[in-house]
Amino acid sequence: MKVGVLGAGQLGRMLALSGYPLNHKFGFSGNTDDEPATLLGYTFAKKNTSDNIDFLVEFADVITFESENTDVGIVKKINKKIPVYPNEKSLFITQHRGREKALFNQLNIPCAPYQIINSLEDLKTAIHTIGLPAILKTTMGGYDGKGQFLIHHQDQINDAWNSMNGVESILEGFVNFKRELSLIAVRGIDNSHKYYPLVENTHHQGILRLTIAPAQNINKKVQETAQHYMQILLDEMSYVGVLTIELFETENGLMVNEMAPRVHNSGHWSIEGANTSQFENHIRAITSMPLGDTTLTHPFCAMINIISQLGDIDAVLKMPNAHLHLYDKSERKNRKLGHINMTADSQAELENSIKKLKDFLPK
Ligand code: AMP
Repeated sequence: MKVGVLGAGQLGRMLALSGYPLNHKFGFSGNTDDEPATLLGYTFAKKNTSDNIDFLVEFADVITFESENTDVGIVKKINKKIPVYPNEKSLFITQHRGREKALFNQLNIPCAPYQIINSLEDLKTAIHTIGLPAILKTTMGGYDGKGQFLIHHQDQINDAWNSMNGVESILEGFVNFKRELSLIAVRGIDNSHKYYPLVENTHHQGILRLTIAPAQNINKKVQETAQHYMQILLDEMSYVGVLTIELFETENGLMVNEMAPRVHNSGHWSIEGANTSQFENHIRAITSMPLGDTTLTHPFCAMINIISQLGDIDAVLKMPNAHLHLYDKSERKNRKLGHINMTADSQAELENSIKKLKDFLPK
């Protein structure tokens, strides 16, 4: 089939790399000529505007997207001609933190208390109810911790609201979490489901740096609970493709932070770490192919992001159980340039590999 991807970043690139062996063809809509995916397939539109998306739609049998910030209006327009997966409803909900949290509450999925904020007055009232510390976030468009303000004291309220530049925001109660976890799953057009194990994520300045797969010391009940939350979300949205939920592990169990309607950085380990990667499973789902087995290829896996600068990539290439994935991007501060996947047969072996790559991690 011909798959059209709205966007042309590293996620689109890895989707195409996983889909070519299945005989699919790929087209992208990118903003510049040198985005990570543009050399891997046909690039039709320079921008995701409804005027010039038509060529991509003419090429493709099915459309998907690599960002939750995709314009719902464009998806609606495309959907009149060919299917878009995940569907418009899933995109509409997951691109807005308030809609997401409303759905979590509706489905009795635990999440932080929240209120939508449109003014300084709203913020003062919400803090009165939710208390401090709390986090103020833009409802839409934020990523990698951007557009967020952690409020500790009352005297920060003005600064917090000013930092939102007047856009609609959400105040969330601060969750005292032990660890950050994520769960990735895929749902097929035929309502089949597959789940990856919970993984543990470490962030630095809002950017994911390290994922351990599977997360250690997760009992069966916790995995089942996360899968239950995932399943009711997938079914409620009639979702097709890969969905990610980010969770906090707390003293009182799991709380969901947010979801992403796409393949996710915390699932990159699955390229070598699982029998079928998140990318291939997303492509299988949206092209009506049977979903692939999500079992791990090794008992211990990890992923380290390469951020800002490439570093000593030869050292990675010399390691037997490390796999380098570069995105064809130039170096720039805080930019994701690639990642390294590691597989191991023991925890000690994995720890040793991570230690060898410590220069890729924040000091
Ligand atoms: P987000 O963009 O929602 O994923 O937030 C970025 C990071 O901020 C998360 O990975 C957490 O480390 C932290 N964070 C977000 N929301 C909360 C919250 N309600 N309580 C505590 N920490 C949070």
